[in-house]
Amino acid sequence: MAARIISGTEIAAQIREELKKETAELKEKSGVVPGLVTILVGKNPASVSYVTAKQKAAHELGFYSIQDDQPDDISEESLLQLVYRYNNDSKIHGILVQLPIPKHIDEKKILNAIDPDKDVDCFHPINVGRLMIGGDEARFLPCTPAGIQELIVRAGFETSGAEVVVVGRSNIVGKPIANIMLQKGRGANSTVTVVHTGTKDLESHCKRADILIVAAGVPHLVKPEWIKPGACVIDVGVNRVGEKISEKTGKPVPILKGDVDFDAAKEIAGAITPVPGGVGPMTITMLMKNTVKSAKISAGIK
Ligand code: NAD
Repeated sequence: MAARIISGTEIAAQIREELKKETAELKEKSGVVPGLVTILVGKNPASVSYVTAKQKAAHELGFYSIQDDQPDDISEESLLQLVYRYNNDSKIHGILVQLPIPKHIDEKKILNAIDPDKDVDCFHPINVGRLMIGGDEARFLPCTPAGIQELIVRAGFETSGAEVVVVGRSNIVGKPIANIMLQKGRGANSTVTVVHTGTKDLESHCKRADILIVAAGVPHLVKPEWIKPGACVIDVGVNRVGEKISEKTGKPVPILKGDVDFDAAKEIAGAITPVPGGVGPMTITMLMKNTVKSAKISAGIK
């Protein structure tokens, strides 16, 4: 039987509706409006489109939002001062510096300068540590991994006691999602294995997975025969493998492929995310969720 398709587009839309309500209630109860600033250095077209999407989402939810564009020759010191200014701005609850930033600026220095309590991307070492400790300690969850967990939960998969195999060990996806899934609590409590370029037999590990999370950045790395029948497959990979002409606009658009051979895998898996339309739409939504949480904490509401 063909797998159920887990639509990130639909689930993200549901969560955004919930966040819209929460934002309105927060404003009514406490007068606090979630505030998000996105700082963009330079005009990298991909970065421009990412921050535009983040600002659009923030507007739609009723946030106070600022798009702060800076020239690509801004000095490291000036960028640090800008971050400090938003750290001290009580109307701002979330600060996001769009990556990558130009090479003459030390990226780590900038990310580490963000107040951890406003670090809605969850890249600050303090928040990475809080995530590792888990429970109430974890103020924010990093956006893509949080989106992955939410997809698994809302697709109705039991995570407690499940064998979760994560392909990839990046700081942005692999390591944090592994950490999230092994914590005690809702949508977690799993037995987690992380496989990577140093793993001897990728296939044998993937075959054990009740929940298989793939974030390698290698098109169609996971073969259909590596999937346990009925498993939940979350394909994080977004790989540009060529270009095609869009029927809508007549302009060239990238052809995207995931890390899993979707057409073949959907005949074996119990549920699977498509690429695009799976994990992608969840990432910005989780950024909005973190910003609402930050605003609530600042208003003294848990
Ligand atoms: P990365 O390159 O930083 O990390 C990839 C990881 O996969 C590495 O740890 C590496 O060890 C492992 N890996 C690579 N090739 C492998 C192989 N052949 N066998 C076993 N392990 C292998 O990438 P990343 O930032 O974690 O992103 C991974 C993919 O997810 C990319 O395609 C990226 O575009 C996508 N991504 C999507 C979103 C989203 O919102 N949808 C967000 C982040 C990343």
